[in-house]
Amino acid sequence: MKKIVLLLFALCLSCKSTSPLTASKHEYAKPVDTTKRPISNQKKKVYQFEYLGVRNDFPAARLNGFIKNNDSTYTASIWPENFPINPSPWYAFKLWSKTERIIYVNLDYSNGAKHRYAPKLSADGENWTLLDSTSVQRSADSTSAQVKLQVGKDTLWLAAQEIQDHRRVGEWVQSMAQHNFVSQNSAGKSMLGRDLYNLNLSKGLNINKPVVLIISRQHPPEVTGFLCMKAFVETIIEEGSTNGFLEKYRILVYPLMNPDGVDLGHYRHNTGGVDLNRDWSQYHQPEIEQVTSHMVHETATHKNDVVLGLDFHSTYRDVYYTPHESIERKIPNFTKAWLEKIRVAVGLKDINESPGKNLQPTSSAWFNRQFGATGITYEIGDDTPRGFIKTKGVESARAMMQLLLAE
Ligand SMILES: [Zn+2]
Repeated sequence: MKKIVLLLFALCLSCKSTSPLTASKHEYAKPVDTTKRPISNQKKKVYQFEYLGVRNDFPAARLNGFIKNNDSTYTASIWPENFPINPSPWYAFKLWSKTERIIYVNLDYSNGAKHRYAPKLSADGENWTLLDSTSVQRSADSTSAQVKLQVGKDTLWLAAQEIQDHRRVGEWVQSMAQHNFVSQNSAGKSMLGRDLYNLNLSKGLNINKPVVLIISRQHPPEVTGFLCMKAFVETIIEEGSTNGFLEKYRILVYPLMNPDGVDLGHYRHNTGGVDLNRDWSQYHQPEIEQVTSHMVHETATHKNDVVLGLDFHSTYRDVYYTPHESIERKIPNFTKAWLEKIRVAVGLKDINESPGKNLQPTSSAWFNRQFGATGITYEIGDDTPRGFIKTKGVESARAMMQLLLAE
């Protein structure tokens, strides 16, 4: 007993001296239960047939089964990590053949999900091309799609989107940290121990500067949002280092919020079986608990005022989920001015904006609840052309810097 009391006393002392400042718990009008739920893992294996080989034993792969229907036709089963789940059926696997041939592969979701991601091909996992749409035939109800592939001795990668796994994102993070005003840090570890990357952008001292928070990939398949975030951050690094922006502002970037989900090829959830973008209330999941703590601790200890939070995602079209005019925030005029500048710069007739009242425990609501900041969910369409995604990332970073420099 005495030992336990002493131990508790020691723990209490140690938490007093080292405990980081953590985020407050927030209540929302539409709460979501984000306590841990079981997931089922796919079997990682090599499927070998007379001519054809198929494998899913690499990060970001998803293939739950593979059978031969006849000499030229095969069926690939694609299943989510658990139910219920948002219908975003991610798939990724590699194929090769002893002899050059044409094969047909049925991507069979058979779980209510509809074919969503246009298949991409790669010879090396780095450079991707879109499979011609004439080589993709959906079933009448879209719960499967047949893809026509030319396979040969060289391995062919087939995936729902370009693969941006934990390793590849880490290489990008490292390359950004080569600039002397960018530092690479860690916000903690995912449930399975993967690093929660953080980049700090600031010229001179961090102290007393207003802050912009940037996050991405709470949802594993949402690569197009990630690509936009990359162009956005690269532009802040390239141009914000010479236009005065990084002297005035500090930027904290968390580019891969769900590294386990990404490397396990999940549809949406983390290894706790939870949609991380509903956990910004009680912080049941370690990824959200640690990133929010990092944000609060970093900004409080450096006397930073968080003015803006951006969360990059993907959906069926480009759209901005913005705060409804009734929501109080530090820079009330920012959103309208920013979207208009982006619209003009990228040459669009209209920009899709969907204002919301922060009813659910999402990151964008949390940026406002925790800091009084403007919180925006920046959505890029699954099929938005990659060149346009980059242009949008560049121009929206320029527009943001112009507006915030004028504050
Ligand atoms: Zn999303």
